[in-house]
Amino acid sequence: MSSQFKTDILQGDLYINGKWVSASDQSYFESLNPATGELVGICAAATTEQVDEAVAKANEAYSKWKNTPIPERAAYLTKAAQLFELRKEELASVMTMEMGKVLPESLGEVGVVIATAHYMAGEGRRLFGETVPVGYPDRNVRMVREPLGVAACITPWNFPVALASYKIFSALIAGNTVVWKPASEVALSAKTFVEVLNDAGLPAGVVNLITGSGRTVGQTLAEHSDVKVISFTGSTEVGQKLAEMSCKTLKRISLELGGKNAVIVLKDADLDKAADGIVKSAFTTTGQRCTAASRVIVERPVKELLLQKVVELTKSLKIGNGLVEGIQVGPLVNEDQLHTVEKYVKTAIEEGGNILSGGQRVKELGGYYYEPTIIENVKPNDTVAQEEIFGPVLAIIEVDSYEEAMEVNNGTIYGLSTSIYTESLHYANRAAKEAVSGLVYINNGTSNAEMGVAFGGMKMSGNGHREVSHHAFDVMTEWKSIYTNY
Ligand code: NAP
Ligand code: MG
Repeated sequence: MSSQFKTDILQGDLYINGKWVSASDQSYFESLNPATGELVGICAAATTEQVDEAVAKANEAYSKWKNTPIPERAAYLTKAAQLFELRKEELASVMTMEMGKVLPESLGEVGVVIATAHYMAGEGRRLFGETVPVGYPDRNVRMVREPLGVAACITPWNFPVALASYKIFSALIAGNTVVWKPASEVALSAKTFVEVLNDAGLPAGVVNLITGSGRTVGQTLAEHSDVKVISFTGSTEVGQKLAEMSCKTLKRISLELGGKNAVIVLKDADLDKAADGIVKSAFTTTGQRCTAASRVIVERPVKELLLQKVVELTKSLKIGNGLVEGIQVGPLVNEDQLHTVEKYVKTAIEEGGNILSGGQRVKELGGYYYEPTIIENVKPNDTVAQEEIFGPVLAIIEVDSYEEAMEVNNGTIYGLSTSIYTESLHYANRAAKEAVSGLVYINNGTSNAEMGVAFGGMKMSGNGHREVSHHAFDVMTEWKSIYTNY
């Protein structure tokens, strides 16, 4: 089946100061297609000196960019949005080949990039300041938002370009310059994204792309005194390391981290809608979303009926190569992720879980495929109910009341997204108040974010910052207070 999708091998280079440059020690790493095992292309692994150079060039470009009027900065984003539209299919298929998500999802993701570009271009006009009543005659005081300088954006592989667009476009419109370190799994998607920014005519040094090992590149950026803010999305473990490394230079750091999201289903819920929301949230992107539902917390009287519906929908999902039309669930991103999922399912069984559906690797397909898996009889403190799996695995936990459901929902270290299905105004509103998570969905699954709405998590899912909306400027700017006596 693989030859059907064969394409030329792509090459990803670094993009520093408006030029494509190869790795100075000529070291390249491979990007593999998880659906076929084939080589998609090779990408440059930056040396520490090249990271330093990218930061230096971004820093040089900063003073001019900062003083470029916002409508001009916005025009580059609008231009980029038009060019992304023209290269939508190409960028989407590179993403699907690199990390496996199905093509309609990849196309949707490019749509998010375009929407973010337009949104941030518009938000530029609303980078409002404040004036404050003063305590002296003949004086005024105003507060203005100022950019910070060089922003390092470090992104994961599960949304190769959407998360980059959140970070990079908010940084740019606010007047910062950028050094971007994408996940190595999706370095070629990153290269295509930056080609578009280059074609949009961004001045040299305003955006720089550095690919290579997270440890080398990430550490250099985190410890660099000329990097003023880090915007990171990825695992809680790496986020903690970056926070530690960046504290010596007192740089700002925004962390969007893991989740262990739940769908609560109360006994009065519309079970068809709940089942649909659960299956979409659990298995879209093969469960590899920070907002994926990995727990269902259901009131005992409706458990049987709900699970019948969930299992039926799950068994109807079509698994395969995301480039093939009609496929709904692609492979996991790589072999490691496949082994992680296998290990968690094994642990769940050892701890008393019962597999209702799935539970196996799909061997006949060849790539890193794993069946969408539903495990019942899971207790709130079992390993699969506590740790982020990042795969197509859903744990079912039974409870006797709303109160118990909310206690279980809040009983993990994470706090990203909570969903509740109920017809009760009372419980819907209590859930909105009592869920300790940055996102709460009522009668919708856990993963359905809108443009313009603050995105981020509580507890170990982040460090209190938010992306996407105008609140992103709390990360990408700082306040200056100006006193004028006249
Ligand atoms: P990851 O392993 O933490 O990697 C994220 C990024 O950090 C990659 O670019 C990676 O580079 C880099 N990195 C790795 N080790 C590093 C280190 N020691 N120092 C500095 N940077 C380092 O996460 P992932 O596996 O790509 O993505 C999955 C995770 O992201 C999940 O936990 C998921 O929940 C989370 N996520 C959160 C959100 C959110 O908004 N809350 C959204 C999406 C995903 P390499 O690729 O080169 O290792
Ligand atoms: Mg890959």
